[in-house]
Amino acid sequence: MPIPENIIDQIQNRTDIVEVISRYIPLQKAGRNYKAPCPFHNEKTPSFIVSPDKQIYHCFGCGAGGNAFSFVMKHENLEFPEVVEMLAEKAGVKLPHLTSEKKELTSLANQLYKINELAVSFFQESLARSAAAKDYLASRGIAEETIKKLRIGYAPDGWEGILNFFQKKNVHGSFVEKAGLAISNEKGGYYDRFRKRPIFPILDLKNRVLGFGGRVLDSSLPKYMNSPETYVYSKGRNLYGLNFTRDFIKKQGYALIVEGYLDFIIPYQAGVTNIVATLGTALTVDQVKLLKRFANTVIMVYDPDEAGEAASLRNMDLFLGEGVNVYIAELPKGFDPDGYIRKFGADDFIKLTKSSKNLFDYKLSKLSSRFDIRTGHGKAAIAGEMLPTISRIENAVLRSNLIKKLAEKLSVDEESIRTELKKVKPDYTMRVYTVSTVEAKKDSKSAEKMILALLFEGGNFIQEVRGKLSLEEFKDSSIRDIVKLVLDISKEGKAITPVKLINYLENNDAAAILISEAVNLSETLSNKEKVLSDCIAKIKKDNTKDRLERLQDAIKAAHNSNDDGLVTRLVTEYMELLKGSSV
Ligand SMILES: [Zn+2]
Repeated sequence: MPIPENIIDQIQNRTDIVEVISRYIPLQKAGRNYKAPCPFHNEKTPSFIVSPDKQIYHCFGCGAGGNAFSFVMKHENLEFPEVVEMLAEKAGVKLPHLTSEKKELTSLANQLYKINELAVSFFQESLARSAAAKDYLASRGIAEETIKKLRIGYAPDGWEGILNFFQKKNVHGSFVEKAGLAISNEKGGYYDRFRKRPIFPILDLKNRVLGFGGRVLDSSLPKYMNSPETYVYSKGRNLYGLNFTRDFIKKQGYALIVEGYLDFIIPYQAGVTNIVATLGTALTVDQVKLLKRFANTVIMVYDPDEAGEAASLRNMDLFLGEGVNVYIAELPKGFDPDGYIRKFGADDFIKLTKSSKNLFDYKLSKLSSRFDIRTGHGKAAIAGEMLPTISRIENAVLRSNLIKKLAEKLSVDEESIRTELKKVKPDYTMRVYTVSTVEAKKDSKSAEKMILALLFEGGNFIQEVRGKLSLEEFKDSSIRDIVKLVLDISKEGKAITPVKLINYLENNDAAAILISEAVNLSETLSNKEKVLSDCIAKIKKDNTKDRLERLQDAIKAAHNSNDDGLVTRLVTEYMELLKGSSV
């Protein structure tokens, strides 16, 4: 249940950002504002500014920004509702009570986190007592320090190790089972799930223990064993190690994705800090979305056998669907990241990942070695695998280039590829009429940002934007969402301040940054009316250009499939659009 906006407003009104931030870092008065060295990036001269008037902070160095809520979320690594709770208490605002069902589930989750936390200590103590397990980890090149940091442990041999441990703590077997640490037997009893295995705790972004992974010491089977799905753990929703590496991933702008625990641990320990592991499951949309919060580019590091698999290549299309750039780094035959680093070192490993191929090129080269590209059958097979990938790409220019590339590779007519592509996406021509959500061109994005800044001027500016631009004309979806909210709120006759707006957006990090940036931007503007009309014109012009390009594509495609009716309709639309524009 979301917390009602009026309650959040109340908390906001009674909270002072200067007071909140100075609990964490010392602030220095500088004119009307306060400043400090930024806590979110490394710097000597302060570029972190807090404005008591606007109740907003912004860092001119790293771009971090937001309100008091955003600051605490970022600094303490908490979710919005948790920060609301915290600041409500300080502000003396009472929160509405949770429903009893929700309360129960929350308390079940908390119990499971507690059990998992205790289990970590049990596994750690067992590791300390097992020479064989310690030897094993050392033989795999895992340092003491890493064991401590990643909280690696050991599940001893036997059927009731962890059960006895929990019994002494008065935790019933059924709860140990709910946490995924025990399995029930036919007689109504329980036995340990993990036995005689090194144990790797799986943590979430708040460093809570969600579940565990175990790997055998020897060659017995199964080689890997993970916690089952529990109330707090779902294997397709998490990425191993992300809690340790997300800041590095953000900083570097891309993430390396590997499969197993050791493939994460050994590179991480060697200083490859922008890495996560999927734990051997096929990638899910949830994982892609999770990662996308920190980087827009990923490099999949694979051994060559697996990478070439059609299934894993198809799986990569998930990234494209989410607008994430994918590259594939292929290790030499017989190597995984763990083995590669142990033999050649981290520098070589990084070098290798930097020479990775983008998904399209990689997939195409794999397919051309698998199928005979000279035969009609081979061409069809390759096209059949490549077209769905191309159809996932929203950017029209990029898609056009890929079509050309594929046509050249297969030595076929470009138009025939376009016709085939239409079969993959039957709504291809319909898409001409929908405005793309691809990342906007840089200058139109800055025009959109400028408009957002000007909306905070209120009154006439809001009217002007509402009258002249429709939401679909904003290409940047984050900006579009914020603009929509501003327009909706102002329609209700309510005043909107940037600081409250950030809360209404549930303190989404990207939104908070955009808003605090826009607030600072608006201060630098003179002749704001002129800037607004220039920006509106710029956005309109860019959109018309895009639509003309898309129509051209659609006309060609319709022409090739001999759909004369459609050609006529599209050409008419093209001419109309051209007439009414200044492109
Ligand atoms: Zn900063």
